[in-house]
Amino acid sequence: MSFAVAIDGPAAAGKGTIARVIADHFGLEYLDTGLLYRFVGRARLEGAQDLAEIARTIESGDLKHVDLRAPAVSQAASEVAKMPEVRSALMALQRRFAKIPKGAVLDGRDIGTVICPEADVKLYVFANREVRAKRRHLELTANGLDIPFEKVLSDLQVRDCLDMERSEAPLRPADDALKLDTSELTVDDANQRAIALVTAQLNKGGNLSH
Ligand code: C5P
Repeated sequence: MSFAVAIDGPAAAGKGTIARVIADHFGLEYLDTGLLYRFVGRARLEGAQDLAEIARTIESGDLKHVDLRAPAVSQAASEVAKMPEVRSALMALQRRFAKIPKGAVLDGRDIGTVICPEADVKLYVFANREVRAKRRHLELTANGLDIPFEKVLSDLQVRDCLDMERSEAPLRPADDALKLDTSELTVDDANQRAIALVTAQLNKGGNLSH
């Protein structure tokens, strides 16, 4: 059996950074599943029609596009993420990734609930919306984007709503997820807490196969 860590939570809660740190610390492969939806959302913005086909034929190089983090792509990703045919087309790839022998960390919205309900460790990483909007605003402006804070906040609100209220694989913590509120934590503290949670779970009986 390979080892899998599932990390879910809303946008800008810190789960991407935590996922990368967990992958490095425990020597696991990492998949940012949001990039899959971003790639399909970007294709839709460019006028693609058969989004399920786009989803089915994604290759790892596709996830390196520099503009996948752009705000318009974030919103488009949440729109295509409501479509059952897109979600099911992306499922096989994610499930295969979760089983790689080296062990895997996947982060997203439905990893612990739908993609990998048998994951050895499930984390649900969250923070209040103001804090998340401040983080995302800092990140975007540091990358040279001129965007008002209020716009970032309202975009996050729309995305939270779409992600939590859709009928297909809505964002919610798995029943057995360990919850980590990063609202008051520095990045480093959040990472250390996450490492401690995974370590504690491992000590309880999970196992790394290598
Ligand atoms: O994680 P990130 O913000 O990059 O994800 C972009 C969008 O993709 C999310 O707002 C969500 O709608 C969708 N998504 C999803 N399921 C996942 C990962 C992302 O629905 N596992």
